[in-house]
Amino acid sequence: MSVKLYTLLVPILIIGLYYGGQEVLAKEQLYDERMALYKKTEALTQVPWYYIAAIDQYERNSKKDEADEKVVSITIPNELWYGLGNSSLIQDEDIIQFFHGDGKDGNGDNKADPKQSEDVLFTMANIILEYGPAKDEVKIALWNYYKRDLTVKTIMNTAKVFRKFKSINLTDRDFPVSLNHNYSYRSTWGNRRGFGGLRIHEGTDIFAGYGTPVKSTTYGVVELKGWNLYGGWRIGIRDIYNIYHYYGHLSGYEDDIKVGQVVQPGDVLGSVGSTGYGPPGTSGKFPPHLHYGMYKDNGHSEWSFDPYPYLRKWEKMAKDKD
Ligand SMILES: [Zn+2]
Repeated sequence: MSVKLYTLLVPILIIGLYYGGQEVLAKEQLYDERMALYKKTEALTQVPWYYIAAIDQYERNSKKDEADEKVVSITIPNELWYGLGNSSLIQDEDIIQFFHGDGKDGNGDNKADPKQSEDVLFTMANIILEYGPAKDEVKIALWNYYKRDLTVKTIMNTAKVFRKFKSINLTDRDFPVSLNHNYSYRSTWGNRRGFGGLRIHEGTDIFAGYGTPVKSTTYGVVELKGWNLYGGWRIGIRDIYNIYHYYGHLSGYEDDIKVGQVVQPGDVLGSVGSTGYGPPGTSGKFPPHLHYGMYKDNGHSEWSFDPYPYLRKWEKMAKDKD
Protein backbone atom coordinates (compact mmCIF):
# COMPACT_ATOMS: atom_id res chain seq x y z
CA MET A 1 0.00 0.00 0.00
CA SER A 2 1.41 3.44 -0.89
CA VAL A 3 2.20 5.85 1.92
CA LYS A 4 -0.27 8.39 0.53
CA LEU A 5 -3.19 5.98 0.53
CA TYR A 6 -2.28 4.83 4.03
CA THR A 7 -2.25 8.36 5.45
CA LEU A 8 -5.68 8.87 3.88
CA LEU A 9 -7.19 5.66 5.24
CA VAL A 10 -6.03 5.93 8.84
CA PRO A 11 -7.99 9.13 9.61
CA ILE A 12 -11.06 7.67 7.85
CA LEU A 13 -10.78 4.55 10.00
CA ILE A 14 -10.43 6.63 13.18
CA ILE A 15 -13.40 8.84 12.25
CA GLY A 16 -15.40 5.71 11.42
CA LEU A 17 -14.62 4.11 14.78
CA TYR A 18 -15.45 7.36 16.56
CA TYR A 19 -18.87 7.75 14.95
CA GLY A 20 -19.58 4.02 15.32
CA GLY A 21 -18.87 4.39 19.04
CA GLN A 22 -20.99 7.54 19.23
CA GLU A 23 -23.89 5.70 17.63
CA VAL A 24 -23.73 2.89 20.20
CA LEU A 25 -23.58 5.49 22.96
CA ALA A 26 -26.57 7.36 21.48
CA LYS A 27 -28.57 4.10 21.43
CA GLU A 28 -27.73 3.37 25.05
CA GLN A 29 -28.80 6.90 26.02
CA LEU A 30 -32.08 6.43 24.15
CA TYR A 31 -32.83 3.23 26.10
CA ASP A 32 -31.97 4.99 29.37
CA GLU A 33 -34.16 7.95 28.47
CA ARG A 34 -37.09 5.68 27.62
CA MET A 35 -36.72 3.66 30.81
CA ALA A 36 -36.68 6.86 32.91
CA LEU A 37 -39.95 7.97 31.25
CA TYR A 38 -41.63 4.58 31.81
CA LYS A 39 -40.59 4.58 35.48
CA LYS A 40 -41.82 8.14 35.93
CA THR A 41 -45.19 7.18 34.42
CA GLU A 42 -45.38 4.20 36.80
CA ALA A 43 -44.67 6.50 39.76
CA LEU A 44 -47.53 8.81 38.69
CA THR A 45 -50.13 6.16 37.85
CA GLN A 46 -49.13 2.82 39.51
CA VAL A 47 -49.31 1.14 36.09
CA PRO A 48 -46.18 -1.10 36.05
CA TRP A 49 -43.44 0.30 33.74
CA TYR A 50 -43.16 -2.94 31.74
CA TYR A 51 -46.73 -2.64 30.41
CA ILE A 52 -46.14 0.94 29.29
CA ALA A 53 -42.78 -0.07 27.79
CA ALA A 54 -44.36 -3.03 25.95
CA ILE A 55 -47.12 -0.85 24.42
CA ASP A 56 -44.48 1.61 23.22
CA GLN A 57 -42.32 -1.22 21.87
CA TYR A 58 -45.29 -2.72 20.02
CA GLU A 59 -46.22 0.56 18.35
CA ARG A 60 -42.59 1.25 17.41
CA ASN A 61 -42.37 -2.15 15.70
CA SER A 62 -45.68 -1.60 13.89
CA LYS A 63 -44.59 1.67 12.28
CA LYS A 64 -43.57 1.46 8.65
CA ASP A 65 -40.54 3.74 8.83
CA GLU A 66 -39.20 2.11 12.02
CA ALA A 67 -38.52 5.56 13.49
CA ASP A 68 -36.15 4.14 16.07
CA GLU A 69 -34.81 7.59 16.97
CA LYS A 70 -38.12 8.74 18.41
CA VAL A 71 -38.12 8.39 22.17
CA VAL A 72 -41.78 7.36 22.41
CA SER A 73 -43.67 5.80 19.48
CA ILE A 74 -47.20 5.53 20.90
CA THR A 75 -49.66 7.48 18.72
CA ILE A 76 -53.06 8.22 20.21
CA PRO A 77 -55.57 9.16 17.48
CA ASN A 78 -56.86 12.75 17.56
CA GLU A 79 -60.49 11.75 18.12
CA LEU A 80 -59.42 9.86 21.26
CA TRP A 81 -57.00 12.53 22.45
CA TYR A 82 -59.21 15.59 21.95
CA GLY A 83 -62.61 13.86 22.07
CA LEU A 84 -65.22 13.24 19.39
CA GLY A 85 -66.42 16.41 17.73
CA ASN A 86 -63.63 18.51 19.23
CA SER A 87 -62.02 19.89 16.09
CA SER A 88 -60.41 22.81 17.93
CA LEU A 89 -57.31 20.72 18.83
CA ILE A 90 -56.78 23.08 21.79
CA GLN A 91 -54.44 21.39 24.31
CA ASP A 92 -56.47 22.41 27.34
CA GLU A 93 -57.44 19.56 29.70
CA ASP A 94 -60.79 21.17 30.63
CA ILE A 95 -61.86 21.53 27.00
CA ILE A 96 -60.60 18.02 26.20
CA GLN A 97 -62.53 16.60 29.17
CA PHE A 98 -65.67 18.44 28.08
CA PHE A 99 -65.49 16.49 24.81
CA HIS A 100 -64.65 13.23 26.70
CA GLY A 101 -61.16 13.15 25.21
CA ASP A 102 -58.38 11.13 26.90
CA GLY A 103 -55.52 13.62 26.37
CA LYS A 104 -53.72 14.57 29.61
CA ASP A 105 -50.84 16.72 30.78
CA GLY A 106 -48.07 14.47 32.10
CA ASN A 107 -45.24 16.97 32.50
CA GLY A 108 -46.99 19.80 34.33
CA ASP A 109 -46.85 22.48 31.63
CA ASN A 110 -50.66 22.75 31.68
CA LYS A 111 -50.90 21.51 28.12
CA ALA A 112 -52.08 18.09 27.01
CA ASP A 113 -49.80 17.78 23.99
CA PRO A 114 -49.88 14.55 21.91
CA LYS A 115 -46.36 15.39 20.67
CA GLN A 116 -44.82 15.38 24.16
CA SER A 117 -43.54 11.99 25.36
CA GLU A 118 -44.57 12.42 28.98
CA ASP A 119 -48.10 13.54 28.04
CA VAL A 120 -48.52 10.56 25.70
CA LEU A 121 -47.29 7.99 28.27
CA PHE A 122 -49.35 9.53 31.08
CA THR A 123 -52.45 9.52 28.86
CA MET A 124 -51.89 5.89 27.80
CA ALA A 125 -51.38 4.80 31.42
CA ASN A 126 -54.67 6.49 32.34
CA ILE A 127 -56.48 4.73 29.50
CA ILE A 128 -55.19 1.44 31.01
CA LEU A 129 -56.20 2.58 34.51
CA GLU A 130 -59.86 2.81 33.49
CA TYR A 131 -59.76 -0.96 34.16
CA GLY A 132 -56.93 -1.19 36.68
CA PRO A 133 -53.19 -1.92 36.93
CA ALA A 134 -53.40 -5.72 37.50
CA LYS A 135 -52.43 -8.14 34.73
CA ASP A 136 -55.96 -9.25 33.78
CA GLU A 137 -57.22 -5.66 33.91
CA VAL A 138 -54.40 -4.47 31.63
CA LYS A 139 -55.33 -7.26 29.21
CA ILE A 140 -58.95 -6.08 29.05
CA ALA A 141 -57.89 -2.46 28.61
CA LEU A 142 -55.56 -3.47 25.75
CA TRP A 143 -58.32 -5.46 24.08
CA ASN A 144 -60.68 -2.48 24.30
CA TYR A 145 -58.05 -0.13 22.91
CA TYR A 146 -56.59 -2.24 20.07
CA LYS A 147 -59.47 -4.70 19.46
CA ARG A 148 -57.03 -7.35 18.13
CA ASP A 149 -56.00 -10.64 19.79
CA LEU A 150 -52.49 -10.81 18.32
CA THR A 151 -51.76 -7.25 19.45
CA VAL A 152 -52.84 -7.98 23.03
CA LYS A 153 -50.85 -11.23 23.04
CA THR A 154 -47.70 -9.55 21.69
CA ILE A 155 -47.83 -6.68 24.19
CA MET A 156 -48.44 -9.02 27.15
CA ASN A 157 -45.55 -11.28 26.02
CA THR A 158 -43.19 -8.34 25.61
CA ALA A 159 -44.15 -7.03 29.06
CA LYS A 160 -43.32 -10.46 30.50
CA VAL A 161 -39.85 -10.39 28.92
CA PHE A 162 -39.13 -6.80 30.03
CA ARG A 163 -40.27 -7.64 33.54
CA LYS A 164 -38.13 -10.77 33.80
CA PHE A 165 -34.91 -9.12 32.57
CA LYS A 166 -35.69 -5.73 34.16
CA SER A 167 -34.49 -4.14 30.92
CA ILE A 168 -35.70 -2.90 27.53
CA ASN A 169 -32.23 -3.07 25.97
CA LEU A 170 -32.32 -6.71 24.86
CA THR A 171 -30.46 -6.82 21.55
CA ASP A 172 -28.46 -10.05 21.96
CA ARG A 173 -29.03 -12.86 19.40
CA ASP A 174 -27.88 -16.45 18.84
CA PHE A 175 -27.70 -18.95 15.96
CA PRO A 176 -30.47 -21.61 16.25
CA VAL A 177 -28.16 -24.61 15.83
CA SER A 178 -25.17 -25.38 18.04
CA LEU A 179 -21.97 -24.19 16.33
CA ASN A 180 -20.12 -27.17 17.83
CA HIS A 181 -22.00 -29.56 15.52
CA ASN A 182 -21.83 -30.02 11.75
CA TYR A 183 -24.54 -28.12 9.92
CA SER A 184 -25.20 -26.52 6.54
CA TYR A 185 -27.79 -24.18 5.10
CA ARG A 186 -28.44 -21.98 2.11
CA SER A 187 -31.11 -19.52 1.06
CA THR A 188 -34.23 -21.56 0.22
CA TRP A 189 -37.02 -19.19 1.22
CA GLY A 190 -39.77 -18.97 -1.42
CA ASN A 191 -38.92 -22.29 -3.15
CA ARG A 192 -41.86 -24.38 -4.36
CA ARG A 193 -42.96 -27.23 -2.10
CA GLY A 194 -44.47 -30.52 -3.21
CA PHE A 195 -46.10 -31.93 -0.09
CA GLY A 196 -49.53 -30.51 0.78
CA GLY A 197 -50.23 -28.89 -2.59
CA LEU A 198 -48.78 -25.68 -3.95
CA ARG A 199 -47.25 -23.60 -1.21
CA ILE A 200 -43.95 -21.80 -0.93
CA HIS A 201 -41.15 -22.69 1.45
CA GLU A 202 -41.60 -20.21 4.32
CA GLY A 203 -38.22 -20.55 5.95
CA THR A 204 -34.61 -21.70 5.83
CA ASP A 205 -33.62 -25.36 6.28
CA ILE A 206 -30.55 -25.94 8.42
CA PHE A 207 -29.30 -29.49 7.88
CA ALA A 208 -27.66 -31.15 10.89
CA GLY A 209 -27.49 -34.57 12.53
CA TYR A 210 -30.22 -36.03 14.78
CA GLY A 211 -29.96 -34.68 18.31
CA THR A 212 -28.10 -31.46 17.46
CA PRO A 213 -29.27 -28.88 20.05
CA VAL A 214 -31.75 -26.27 18.75
CA LYS A 215 -31.54 -22.91 20.53
CA SER A 216 -33.68 -19.82 20.80
CA THR A 217 -32.32 -17.03 18.61
CA THR A 218 -34.03 -14.23 20.55
CA TYR A 219 -35.66 -13.02 23.74
CA GLY A 220 -39.33 -13.95 23.67
CA VAL A 221 -42.14 -16.12 24.96
CA VAL A 222 -43.01 -19.68 23.89
CA GLU A 223 -46.36 -19.23 22.18
CA LEU A 224 -46.95 -22.68 20.74
CA LYS A 225 -45.61 -26.20 21.14
CA GLY A 226 -46.84 -29.49 19.67
CA TRP A 227 -47.50 -31.51 16.52
CA ASN A 228 -48.40 -30.12 13.12
CA LEU A 229 -48.91 -32.07 9.85
CA TYR A 230 -46.11 -30.24 7.99
CA GLY A 231 -43.86 -29.12 10.81
CA GLY A 232 -43.91 -32.25 12.96
CA TRP A 233 -42.87 -31.45 16.52
CA ARG A 234 -42.55 -27.69 16.37
CA ILE A 235 -42.23 -24.70 18.61
CA GLY A 236 -43.15 -21.04 18.08
CA ILE A 237 -41.61 -18.09 19.91
CA ARG A 238 -42.88 -14.52 19.71
CA ASP A 239 -40.11 -11.99 20.29
CA ILE A 240 -40.18 -8.35 21.42
CA TYR A 241 -40.02 -7.03 17.82
CA ASN A 242 -43.45 -8.31 16.70
CA ILE A 243 -41.71 -11.27 15.07
CA TYR A 244 -42.75 -14.91 15.38
CA HIS A 245 -39.98 -17.52 15.14
CA TYR A 246 -40.98 -21.02 14.03
CA TYR A 247 -38.81 -24.11 14.62
CA GLY A 248 -39.96 -27.27 12.79
CA HIS A 249 -39.21 -31.02 12.47
CA LEU A 250 -37.72 -31.34 15.99
CA SER A 251 -37.00 -34.83 17.32
CA GLY A 252 -38.13 -33.65 20.77
CA TYR A 253 -38.26 -30.80 23.25
CA GLU A 254 -36.03 -29.79 26.11
CA ASP A 255 -37.70 -30.95 29.36
CA ASP A 256 -38.44 -27.56 30.92
CA ILE A 257 -39.81 -25.79 27.81
CA LYS A 258 -43.45 -24.82 28.31
CA VAL A 259 -45.98 -22.57 26.58
CA GLY A 260 -45.89 -19.12 28.19
CA GLN A 261 -42.29 -19.46 29.26
CA VAL A 262 -39.80 -16.61 28.74
CA VAL A 263 -36.68 -17.58 26.79
CA GLN A 264 -33.45 -15.81 25.89
CA PRO A 265 -30.89 -16.26 23.09
CA GLY A 266 -29.05 -19.55 23.53
CA ASP A 267 -31.73 -21.33 25.58
CA VAL A 268 -32.02 -24.92 24.31
CA LEU A 269 -35.55 -25.62 23.02
CA GLY A 270 -35.10 -29.16 21.68
CA SER A 271 -33.06 -31.04 19.10
CA VAL A 272 -32.87 -31.53 15.34
CA GLY A 273 -35.04 -34.30 13.88
CA SER A 274 -37.04 -35.28 10.80
CA THR A 275 -40.60 -35.27 12.16
CA GLY A 276 -43.64 -34.25 10.12
CA TYR A 277 -45.42 -34.90 6.81
CA GLY A 278 -47.89 -37.24 8.47
CA PRO A 279 -49.83 -38.06 11.65
CA PRO A 280 -48.21 -37.45 15.07
CA GLY A 281 -44.95 -39.35 15.40
CA THR A 282 -44.21 -39.57 11.67
CA SER A 283 -40.45 -39.29 11.18
CA GLY A 284 -37.70 -40.00 8.63
CA LYS A 285 -39.51 -38.91 5.46
CA PHE A 286 -36.64 -36.50 4.69
CA PRO A 287 -33.10 -35.91 6.00
CA PRO A 288 -32.91 -34.42 9.52
CA HIS A 289 -32.94 -30.62 9.54
CA LEU A 290 -34.27 -27.63 11.41
CA HIS A 291 -36.88 -25.66 9.53
CA TYR A 292 -36.56 -22.05 10.72
CA GLY A 293 -39.27 -19.57 9.76
CA MET A 294 -39.83 -15.89 10.60
CA TYR A 295 -43.14 -13.99 10.47
CA LYS A 296 -43.57 -10.25 10.96
CA ASP A 297 -46.71 -8.56 12.30
CA ASN A 298 -47.37 -4.90 11.47
CA GLY A 299 -50.51 -4.52 13.57
CA HIS A 300 -52.84 -5.48 10.71
CA SER A 301 -51.44 -8.65 9.17
CA GLU A 302 -48.67 -11.19 9.57
CA TRP A 303 -46.40 -12.41 6.76
CA SER A 304 -43.41 -14.68 6.21
CA PHE A 305 -40.04 -13.17 5.30
CA ASP A 306 -36.62 -14.62 4.47
CA PRO A 307 -34.66 -15.56 7.62
CA TYR A 308 -31.45 -16.26 5.67
CA PRO A 309 -29.76 -12.83 6.02
CA TYR A 310 -30.56 -12.82 9.76
CA LEU A 311 -29.19 -16.35 10.23
CA ARG A 312 -25.94 -15.25 8.57
CA LYS A 313 -25.72 -12.26 10.90
CA TRP A 314 -26.48 -14.28 14.06
CA GLU A 315 -24.04 -17.01 13.02
CA LYS A 316 -21.31 -14.36 12.81
CA MET A 317 -22.35 -12.87 16.18
CA ALA A 318 -22.20 -16.34 17.79
CA LYS A 319 -18.79 -17.09 16.23
CA ASP A 320 -17.38 -13.76 17.42
CA LYS A 321 -18.46 -14.58 20.97
CA ASP A 322 -16.78 -18.01 21.02
ZN1 LIG B 1 -38.05 -26.12 5.67
